[in-house]
Amino acid sequence: MLGDRERPSRIRAEQQRALVHEIRHEAYAYAPFWKERLDQAGVSPASVHGVDDLARLPLTELDEVEDPASLVLRPDGASIRRRGDRGLALRLGIARLFGRVAALNERMLEPIYKPIHWLVQAGLPVGYSAEDLERLAELGRRWLEAAGLRRGDVLVGLVPPGPNLGFWELAEGTRRSGVSSLLLSPVPSIEDVAGLRPTVLAGRPVDLANLLEAAAEAGVHLDSLHTLLAVGEPLEDGVRDRLEFRGDGAAVLSAWAPPGVKSLWAECRGGQGGLHTSPAVELLEVVDPLTGAGVAPGEEGEVVWSSIGWRGTVMLRLRTDVYATLEEGRCPACGRTTPRIVPTSPLPALAAALSAVLDREERVSLWQIELRTVEGEDELIVFLAPVAGADLVDVLDELDNRLSVTQFVVLDRSELDDRLVDHGDARVVDLR
Ligand SMILES: [Zn+2]
Repeated sequence: MLGDRERPSRIRAEQQRALVHEIRHEAYAYAPFWKERLDQAGVSPASVHGVDDLARLPLTELDEVEDPASLVLRPDGASIRRRGDRGLALRLGIARLFGRVAALNERMLEPIYKPIHWLVQAGLPVGYSAEDLERLAELGRRWLEAAGLRRGDVLVGLVPPGPNLGFWELAEGTRRSGVSSLLLSPVPSIEDVAGLRPTVLAGRPVDLANLLEAAAEAGVHLDSLHTLLAVGEPLEDGVRDRLEFRGDGAAVLSAWAPPGVKSLWAECRGGQGGLHTSPAVELLEVVDPLTGAGVAPGEEGEVVWSSIGWRGTVMLRLRTDVYATLEEGRCPACGRTTPRIVPTSPLPALAAALSAVLDREERVSLWQIELRTVEGEDELIVFLAPVAGADLVDVLDELDNRLSVTQFVVLDRSELDDRLVDHGDARVVDLR
């Protein structure tokens, strides 16, 4: 058995090999978006040798993608010969010799590459090939296993059916793991749910909380219930509290992923130490949201996501808008060493990144950042005073393009001085 220290590095080495193949012989070779992106950035795929080279690839935001079809791997004879995998190019050459190209397409290329199933995330269609769906089923099985589900469980699912990841990974995962499941829509009455004697409920966090509160009001008990799977969206602390309060001892486990990510990140049973990710199918980085540079291990920043081994739609260095730290040690609950995402509020990371920039900005004479909560939503307000005669329009444009600041307020130097005095000279004021 490998020690704690060796295991993550072994995972890293395997990821490194997979990522290099992914960039050189898949994304660059077969998906026009990534070829264009790397060419524009002046990155030759042959010069990518490892995870450390990843930082040379530009970060991508979902809304920069104009044509979602351009993210999909579509190998053809020419692209396979020119840039594809050598083994595949050889097989294609042999197939050509014997007039078997159609058979090769149908039996080999299509199951691997052809997107046959589409999910829609934040308006972006994300394609899955037949092999991808098998993989999703296996990842779903592992998710449910780590959540403590067994074959004897009865799962009632309330995740809205549709082209969303939560619903499909749940459906495929229960099938693969042999757990009895009934996926219902719309959310049924609490009496109907109780009649099914579920041991597991899976649904959107707020739907689950509302259902359990309705149960308490109606005096209905779900005696067999031992697990609540909060699926599809981040689990807010307030909603988690409601679920734990009404769940009567049932484990509350969150599973979700940001748009563009192809399988769920999920908490394991007993561990609220973050969301387990799957190093075999994804590579995560945490970067400074402003500069895009990687942060030190364990530091907070924005999660950047690259797909590994997925076909259909592929992503390289996708900005997720998720602020988190990345835990790479052994999970105290389940003992696995798969990297875990521990989400944090975006505000401290944003405020830190902004502070560094504002300090360096010569056109700004004084600044103050205020964090506050308005109607449950976190807000970040930046107060700025320009140096005499300076125009802040460009500065504001630049910051606005890169960070989700709620509001910029430009003040006179004296007004901002007064604000600072009011807050004991604090440059970052946290009113949350
Ligand atoms: Zn765990």
